[in-house]
Amino acid sequence: MITPTCRRLLAGLVSAALAGSAAAQTPASYAQPTAVQRTDPMFVDGQATLARLMARKTRTGRAKNVILFIGDGMGPSTVTAGRIYEGQSRGVDGESNLLSFERLPHLALQKTYSTDSQVVDSAASASAMMTGVKTRNGVMGLTGAPRKGDCLASRGAEVATLAEIARAAGKSTGAVTTARLTHATPAAVYAHSAHRDWEADADLSPEAAAAGCRDIARQLVESPRGSRLNLAMGGGRARFLPQAGGGRRRDGRDLIKAWRAGPRSTYVADALQLNALRPGAQDHVLGLFDADHLPYELDRPASGSTVPSLSQMTAKAIDLLSADRDGYFLMVEAGRIDHASHANNAARTLSETAELSRAVATALGKVDLDDTLVIVTADHSHGLTISGYPPRNNPILGLATDEDGPGTADRKAYTTLTFATGPGGTKEGRDNPADDTTAAKSYQQSALVPLSSAAHAGEDVAIYADGPQAHLIDGVVEQSYLFHLMRYALGLDRPAPGVRSLR
Ligand SMILES: [Zn+2]
Repeated sequence: MITPTCRRLLAGLVSAALAGSAAAQTPASYAQPTAVQRTDPMFVDGQATLARLMARKTRTGRAKNVILFIGDGMGPSTVTAGRIYEGQSRGVDGESNLLSFERLPHLALQKTYSTDSQVVDSAASASAMMTGVKTRNGVMGLTGAPRKGDCLASRGAEVATLAEIARAAGKSTGAVTTARLTHATPAAVYAHSAHRDWEADADLSPEAAAAGCRDIARQLVESPRGSRLNLAMGGGRARFLPQAGGGRRRDGRDLIKAWRAGPRSTYVADALQLNALRPGAQDHVLGLFDADHLPYELDRPASGSTVPSLSQMTAKAIDLLSADRDGYFLMVEAGRIDHASHANNAARTLSETAELSRAVATALGKVDLDDTLVIVTADHSHGLTISGYPPRNNPILGLATDEDGPGTADRKAYTTLTFATGPGGTKEGRDNPADDTTAAKSYQQSALVPLSSAAHAGEDVAIYADGPQAHLIDGVVEQSYLFHLMRYALGLDRPAPGVRSLR
C-alpha cells in the first residue's frame, strides 16, 4: 500500500532526479563528491568519524580493572530513543545526539537466549555474563542442569562467578544497582541460587528451606571472607532486616548487623553517609538506600535527596575500589530501565537510560583506559518500538502522526514509542493518545498484547567497550562470552601463584 507519506517521499525523489538531469553536470563530474556534498553536515560528520576510528587505539595489555555496566532491559530501540530523549532534554538535536557509551569505539552484539528459553530473564542473562556458561531462566550461579526452584539438584551445579575469581586473585569486587541488591542482576555477581526470588528467607519454598538452601541476602553477607564483595550498594534493605525490625526476614536475623561485624566492614544508609566514606578506611562497604528498589531518577528530588543517584554511587564505588593496588572488578546496573518498560512507561525507561549514560560518563572521567576495561551492555531487550514518520525533532514521547493525520484504520493517533506487550494493551478498542499528555512522566504507552507486565524481547543487544582488550568485543557473540573476555583481560585465566581455587 502506498501511504501519503510514501507518496510524498517518492515525489521528492522524482523531482530531485529531474533537477539533477536538468543541471549541466555530466556523469564525469560525479567522480568525486560535489561541492554541496562536501559541505553537508553529515559529510563532515562522516569524515570526522572515519578519522576518529582510524586513530583508535588497540590496547593489547592486561586490564588492572574491569567495570561492567548493565542497562537492564536496554535493547537497541531503547538506546536510540534514549539518545533522542537525552538530547531533547538538554535542548540539543536528539536524533544526532549520542549517549556517553555510544562513543566507545568497540562494539559487538550478544545473543541472549538461555538454556531453556528463546527470551532470557535477568537472572539467566547476568549469570551467563558472570560465569561464562548459560543457565535456565530464573537461575543464577549454576549450570543449566537443575530445574528452577530445585534446591537439591542445585548441589554440585555451582559455577564460579567472575567476582569470586577476581577476589580469589586478590582484587577488590563490587556491585552497584538501582534495584534491590538481592535482585537478579546484582545477585548473579555473588550468589548461586536455583530461584531468583529467594531473596530473603521468607521467600524460600518450604522444600528449599528444608533442603538447606540459603537465601540471596544471606549469601551476600555470609560468603567467606575470601569471596565476600568489597562493595555492595543499592536498594532492598527489607531483605536484610528481621520482621521485628521492619524487614521481611522471618529468621530474626539482622544481616546489616552481621555485615558490620565483619572485619573492617561499614554500612551506610543514605547519600550523606556514602559521601563521607574515605578510600582505604574500610575493606567492605554495604550501602542500602531504600527498603525496596531505589526510586526512579524522575522521582528522586533534584537536590537534597537522601538516596544517591546511579552516577553518585558509581563515582564513590570507583573511588573506594581504586584504593586496592591489585585492581578491581565492578558491576554497575541501571536496574530500573527494565521496570519502567515492564510498565510500558517510556518516560521513565528513557530517563533511567539517560542516567546510565551519565554514570558511564562519570566513570570514563575517573578511570585510565590504559588500565581499565569499561564495558556497557544490556542483559536483554524489551518490546519497545520506534515507529511511524514523526517529523524531525518531534518530541520522542510525542505522537507519531505526521501532517497527513494519523493514517490509521481507527482514525486514532498513536505515539512514536509503543510496546509489543504489557499493561498498555487493551482487549477493547485502544485509547486515542491525542487525548492524553503523552510526555507526562507516568504516561503509559500502548501495547499490542495486553499483559499485566510487559514481556522481555529476544533480539540481540549491543556491547560497547573501550580499554585493554576492548578490540575483542567484536562480531556476534554468545552472552556467556563476556565472562571469557573479562577474565582474559584481567589476566585471571591463569591461576595466580599461591592462590588456591575456591572450588
Ligand atoms: Zn525484566
